[in-house]
Amino acid sequence: MGAPEAFTQTTDVGHFIGGRAVPGTSGRQQAVYNPATGAVARQVALASTGEVAAAVANAKAAQPAWGDLPPIRRARVLNSFLALLNQHKDTLAAMISAEHGKVFTDAQGEVARGIDIVEFACGAPQLLKTAFTDQVSSGIDNHTLRQPLGVVAGITPFNFPCMVPLWMFPLALATGNAFILKPSERDPSCSLFMAELLKQAGLPDGVFNVVQGDKVAVDALLAHPDVKAVSFVGSTPIAQYIYETGAHHGKRVQALGGAKNHLVVMPDANVDQAVDALVGAAYGSAGERCMAISVAVLVGDIADQIVPKVAERARALKVANPMDLSAEMGPIVTAAARDRIEAYIGTGVQEGATLVVDGRGLKVPGLEGGFFTGGTLFDHVTPAMRIYKEEIFGPVLACVRVPDFATALQLINDHEFGNGVSIYTSDGGIAREFTRRVQVGMVGVNVPIPVPMAWHGFGGWKKSLFGDMHAYGEEGVRFYTKQKSVMQRWPESIAKGAEFNFPTGR
Ligand code: NAD
Repeated sequence: MGAPEAFTQTTDVGHFIGGRAVPGTSGRQQAVYNPATGAVARQVALASTGEVAAAVANAKAAQPAWGDLPPIRRARVLNSFLALLNQHKDTLAAMISAEHGKVFTDAQGEVARGIDIVEFACGAPQLLKTAFTDQVSSGIDNHTLRQPLGVVAGITPFNFPCMVPLWMFPLALATGNAFILKPSERDPSCSLFMAELLKQAGLPDGVFNVVQGDKVAVDALLAHPDVKAVSFVGSTPIAQYIYETGAHHGKRVQALGGAKNHLVVMPDANVDQAVDALVGAAYGSAGERCMAISVAVLVGDIADQIVPKVAERARALKVANPMDLSAEMGPIVTAAARDRIEAYIGTGVQEGATLVVDGRGLKVPGLEGGFFTGGTLFDHVTPAMRIYKEEIFGPVLACVRVPDFATALQLINDHEFGNGVSIYTSDGGIAREFTRRVQVGMVGVNVPIPVPMAWHGFGGWKKSLFGDMHAYGEEGVRFYTKQKSVMQRWPESIAKGAEFNFPTGR
């Protein structure tokens, strides 16, 4: 692959309301950084309550006609969107790298996983098929409908500015809703670009809107009576706030939160595979993934083999400009996030963990202003330490040594988060026991980052998800639709006469 084209546009990022890009009018805006250089790249508008209300009004006006279309016609729009996404996928990936800082190939992976959901949503007619029972009583049938909720909103985190919105709106649109996206203010450009692609694909104006913003916009969406459901992905304290506030306002809410994902290495694991898994899953995307591995649970004496090998790889990580195709890790999204990560490393040292590799203070030649930190590795971490309990959301791997499988399992089940987990072993019986007993929503067996495919649905347990339904997959279809049960009796049949045209359903 040749060098990808960097995203360098400096135009300020506004909203997308009623089928067109509109500048912010609130008078409030925020800087969007290029994390590789530390420079301000552009400004993003921060919506007022009135701008959110305008987006909701547009969505409310557009939704009934969209929701009334035969599902196959909605699917055709999504199919055109799919083609456009595939055509522009590298533009999106470059936008992600420019504003988030993850390396370009990783950003390409993010876009690809988002595209999977659009492919799934193109099956709308099949996904909306429901149950029918003939003759529940004499001359009576019972069937179920799944109808759209109306206007629904998505509030998304910085770490997947393309994929996480794509977890939400393809299915919301496929099922006949109008959608308002409130992206992260730290990397807002993908959202507007996808809005333009949806328009090009033939989506009617007002069905998809973007409001940029912060807490003001989020609170306006949570309180607005015409927003019927909210999908949220972000940190746990905000997820809990969204869940409680949305429920208080009578909305359906799914709120996916933070994580502290463990990877168990059993004494019978293939050491090289486990080391590869730990290095990729702890340091990939600079650890800014909700499915990143941040704890290695090393069982028995395997730690003495694993820790030196991971240390060697962590020291050798190529941290560079994310558009450099040989980079393994780019910068952290903001200076504040980098400082928070490095402060956690200081805490770990104070708490008595062994700092094997210290990534603090890393400078990348030519990019001295960038928000970089290197890969960090701790050994002899204990469950009482803050670096074990709390989500650091950076390239910091904590190794906990345990004597046996039962202790490893208990450790994970006692943790307040339950997003993803993985086990490396060559024992099928242990793997089976682990997958059945572990209190975590997504489990990998010899797979480090078990992100479910589009038709399986994504969601953690415990404080990693507030609400009943996971994102995308069939759970997503259920989330964005209301069930209606219909009981019918037709005492007399009504003669209709013959029709000679071939029925098309159009
Ligand atoms: P965040 O919680 O700071 O922000 C998420 C969204 O909430 C953003 O759109 C932001 O504008 C908004 N927001 C922030 N503060 C708010 C407030 N006080 N009131 C109302 N809205 C507010 O999360 P982030 O830093 O953007 O993303 C990283 C976090 O997201 C990590 O904790 C990560 O684990 C989590 N995450 C979870 C998943 C998952 O599937 N469980 C996926 C990706 C990221």
